[in-house]
Amino acid sequence: MPKLFIETLGCAMNSRDSEHIIAQLREREGYTTTQEFKEADLILINTCSVRERPVHKLFSELGVFHKKKKEGAKIGVCGCTASHLGEEIIKRAPYVNFVLGARNVSKISEVLHKDRAVETDINYDESEFAFNDFRTSAYKAFINISIGCDKACTFCIVPKTRGDEISIPADLIINEAQKAVNAGAKEIFLLGQNVNNYGRRFSGDTQKINFTELLHRLSKIEKLERIRFTSPHPFHMDDAFIKEFAHNPKICNSIHMPLQSGSTKILKAMKRGYTKEWFINRVEKLRAESPGVSISTDIIVAFPGENDEDFADTIDVMKRVRFDQIFSFKYSPRPETEAEHLPQIDSEIASQRLSYLQTLNNEILDEIHAECLGNSYRVYFEDLIHDGYVSGRSDNNLLIKVKGSEELLGTFHEVKVNAIGRTILTGEILA
Ligand code: SF4
Repeated sequence: MPKLFIETLGCAMNSRDSEHIIAQLREREGYTTTQEFKEADLILINTCSVRERPVHKLFSELGVFHKKKKEGAKIGVCGCTASHLGEEIIKRAPYVNFVLGARNVSKISEVLHKDRAVETDINYDESEFAFNDFRTSAYKAFINISIGCDKACTFCIVPKTRGDEISIPADLIINEAQKAVNAGAKEIFLLGQNVNNYGRRFSGDTQKINFTELLHRLSKIEKLERIRFTSPHPFHMDDAFIKEFAHNPKICNSIHMPLQSGSTKILKAMKRGYTKEWFINRVEKLRAESPGVSISTDIIVAFPGENDEDFADTIDVMKRVRFDQIFSFKYSPRPETEAEHLPQIDSEIASQRLSYLQTLNNEILDEIHAECLGNSYRVYFEDLIHDGYVSGRSDNNLLIKVKGSEELLGTFHEVKVNAIGRTILTGEILA
């Protein structure tokens, strides 16, 4: 059986696309997967282009694959960088056999048998394509609920690589969730660029429901214990959504709310569609309706035009919200985005702001985790980690490890925290 090596960069949606690619190649072409690219008949790299660094990494990696690959092995490039560079990838690396865009995953078999194929149409609609089944984890199922994005955040390349936003029909999503639960998963993780904008547009004649209703229907699936999702957009966080989030017992009490900046002036320049006050208002509403909710976020520092007052606004939001996790980055100009050619903030200032923000974030995290000591949480064990530990997450997304082995995987247990760390807590099983 031919062997496939696939490397996935970037976000959870890329990981799910890689699972779809493996499923198609396994079912249609008889491939098995290998973790060793030197023995692979097909080497795939599923790329990310949200910042410049992953793009640089792509070409250096392609060079290594080309030099060390097995005689006759093929190399393919997929994902967001494939969508926006297209032909240029083959020009710069002529040993690449095909390029498959993030919106064309269902065409993997087609491009495999065509040399130098480039399939990167970002308007191609595979929202109703029923992919074969493959999952990396038996315990948690990632499920796409939409493709593309209709927003126009001025720093973001995603609309140019993943195309317009189309919701996947609810019955396809519910079927996929039911199948995953039948196969043993107790948790589903819904994926989309703007999950709470779900239902605005479908490609076919399907029943229109919104995200709140979709969550409600999914929670009816028996033996499904937990529902998580990413990313909701703060703009679409209406009261009905927050009520369902807070009062549906299967929806985990943790949410990712990408802030990007705490300055209303910068949020306007980013075309995020909300203000500092609206973001804070939604956080207060969430906490009022769902006490103990954990909130994570994304923040970009040094977006063009950000002055000390703007940065101080971001720090102010951090101190008032006390996020449970922050993914923070310096602004990276992306091709074909509205902000691409705006004058840049001095990189020294950008680095200072990022390091100040991350230091403050670590202080807040240490305080939040210190408050967990002695508390007990219901943990769903998903991963075997080093030194005889197994890890899992609490309902409010704390990562907790206990001494144990694989018989704990896929089970829930009450765990008392007896040691804290910045990224993972340690505990003992109570029941
Ligand atoms: S909502 Fe904005 S940041 Fe998110 S994927 Fe769409 S354009 Fe990018």
